[in-house]
Amino acid sequence: MRWRDMRRSENVEDRRGMSMGGAGLKLGGGSLLLIVVLSLLTGTNPLDILGGLVEEAPPPASVDSGPQRKPPTDDPQADFIRAILGDTEDTWSRLFEQGGGTYEPPRLVLFTGAVQSACGQASSAVGPFYCPPDRRVYLDLQFFRELSERFGAPGDFARAYVVSHEIGHHVQNLTGISERVQGQRARMDQAAANALSVRLELQADCYAGVWGYYAARRNILEPGDVEAALAAATAIGDDRLQKQTRGHVVPESFTHRSSAQRVRWFKTGLEGGDVRRCDTFSGRP
Ligand SMILES: [Zn+2]
Repeated sequence: MRWRDMRRSENVEDRRGMSMGGAGLKLGGGSLLLIVVLSLLTGTNPLDILGGLVEEAPPPASVDSGPQRKPPTDDPQADFIRAILGDTEDTWSRLFEQGGGTYEPPRLVLFTGAVQSACGQASSAVGPFYCPPDRRVYLDLQFFRELSERFGAPGDFARAYVVSHEIGHHVQNLTGISERVQGQRARMDQAAANALSVRLELQADCYAGVWGYYAARRNILEPGDVEAALAAATAIGDDRLQKQTRGHVVPESFTHRSSAQRVRWFKTGLEGGDVRRCDTFSGRP
């Protein structure tokens, strides 16, 4: 890919090298509720109970307190992510504009090891993911090494495809498709709900292809790029997804779409660049 001259996005948050914090103290909503109930029962100030807990555990480092160690500024991988994200912003801004809407770009968080999102705590093992409530894509760059070493899908465009797929989920969030699917899933049995999630995933693949179409038109692709991305679509199959985390809202964790389906929908987007053709919800997925 010829990405060096592309505009860089300002929406990358570099949280690499930051501690997740709170190793000894994890308070979810449930625990806080318990503390409030406890304090009501015992007549204690809830903060005292919290204080007692905090004394037993090391103070948690806030994930919002800024990097503890400055990430390298000349990191080509992060630079590449900024370029791709910037390009997806330009493409989707134009497409939304054509449809009479406004594209609100997501933020992309780079992390190492584990990260806290509005969808819960996630480890790198889940792979890249998008969290609709906080409108962020989460990515551990280690995944790209795995992509090339374990899945045999090296190359810039394969990586760009991964980013672009997550951006596809953001588009689904903006257009309200994610929410609609979420609502429908709640009224379905497990099998039907999974089938619907598969369709959601395939649409994100198609949207990734739509971005690829415009990238190709701007002449930033080089010979072999499309093949590399298709290899990535093929490679990130179910064996990867089986490994995914439990208990977090990560769409990839409960879907099992075949490589053939992924490739077909990615190609559908890539060949026409037509968002309307990305209707993965009617007909055969
Ligand atoms: Zn996905």
